[in-house]
Amino acid sequence: MKRSQLYIKTRKDAPGDEQAKNAQLLIRAGFIHKEMAGVYTYLPLGLRTLNKIVQIIREEMNAIGGQEMQLSTLQQQDSWVASGRWSDDVMDVWFRTQLANGSTLGLAPTHEEPLTAIMKNFVSSYHDLPFYTYQFQTKFRNELRSKSGLMRGREFLMKDLYSFSKNKEEHDEFYEQCADAYMKVFDRLGLGGITYRTFASGGSFSKYSDEFQTLSPVGEDTIYVHEGKGIAINQEVYNDEVLADLGITKEELVEKTAVEVGNIFTLGTKYSDALGLEYTDEKGEKTSVFMGSYGIGPSRVMGLIAEHFADEKGLVWPLNVSPYHIYLVTIGDVADRAEQLIADLEAAGVEVLYDDRDERPGAKFADAELMGIPYRVVLSERTLAEEQVELTERRSGNTEMVSQSSIVSNITSKIS
Ligand code: ATP
Ligand code: MG
Repeated sequence: MKRSQLYIKTRKDAPGDEQAKNAQLLIRAGFIHKEMAGVYTYLPLGLRTLNKIVQIIREEMNAIGGQEMQLSTLQQQDSWVASGRWSDDVMDVWFRTQLANGSTLGLAPTHEEPLTAIMKNFVSSYHDLPFYTYQFQTKFRNELRSKSGLMRGREFLMKDLYSFSKNKEEHDEFYEQCADAYMKVFDRLGLGGITYRTFASGGSFSKYSDEFQTLSPVGEDTIYVHEGKGIAINQEVYNDEVLADLGITKEELVEKTAVEVGNIFTLGTKYSDALGLEYTDEKGEKTSVFMGSYGIGPSRVMGLIAEHFADEKGLVWPLNVSPYHIYLVTIGDVADRAEQLIADLEAAGVEVLYDDRDERPGAKFADAELMGIPYRVVLSERTLAEEQVELTERRSGNTEMVSQSSIVSNITSKIS
């Protein structure tokens, strides 16, 4: 990709009304545009990063047998009335609207009810279970406070997976598989070591749910971390009973603030009972389907990564989610050499953003740093005369001179 064709411009200052560091940086670097509080547009660079996060989650959900689908965002009220969640007293984040004929619709805040209703068309016998289905989809929630940039949107992306099992035993097995898959996702996103499976309140069918909490000074949640076991307890369920259940003592725990990046729930038969999702079991008896739901917020994760991996010069993307691997800058009359190098790099699977603008090198370097691209390559007449190329790592700032003949293999070994 040539920078001259990318219409975005970086900027020195973020909009005055933006308080969150993640959104300030992402706006300045040209990844997102702020529409209003809690509502953001993804520009080409931002969408590349979001899609990389999505793809990592997709691969891990497919690996545990998830099948991707996409539900509608406009929702009828019927299934929500049946479950009792249509009321503002039960769900206080609804966006609703009316059709010309007077009927009321809701904009999807989540999808348990409509999906359970759909599945009545497909589930009748024990042969039909279990199955697992998921989507990446925009959710709408009229959040009271939306001051955390991408981390608390009023319109945001969610990966939500739903499991439909014959019974609790079958459910429990998948639930643990999904918890493991979540840890793989957060590892691959660069959040390993700071993300904890966290005991949280469970709702009607299980004592606990599991949240996945990433340590962050801007987090809204307080958790108690057990470093040795690599788990945590959310403040909301932190009491003597939980400690006894887990066999740990107060002294072993450290209080931290964290961001909830994912959440997995045993729903049991709450929604299948409410909406009549039943199957005929091996003995010929009608039984309610046993359900679970499993969320991750890719857009919240993107905000968190932006916030966490940053320095005074700007963003510092982990390689796996950076929009490009290389930011290429040329100095002097070396455009032909640049085109050849890009062709060689792209043939080897390296993603290059080529700053071909007629700008000072210093301005290009500043943009490379603000955008947080993991590696910067500089081709200059001076170093090419000695068959050398300059390669700089964004995270450490370390620069090495690499011989022109080995630059492609050097870079591919770094990014693979
Ligand atoms: P929170 O307590 O932070 O409001 P929640 O309990 O409402 O989160 P869920 O309904 O379980 O969240 O949603 C699943 C996932 O979707 C969350 O773990 C989070 O990653 C993401 N998410 C929830 N609300 C938002 C939001 N307003 N903006 C961005 N991501 C969100
Ligand atoms: Mg919420």
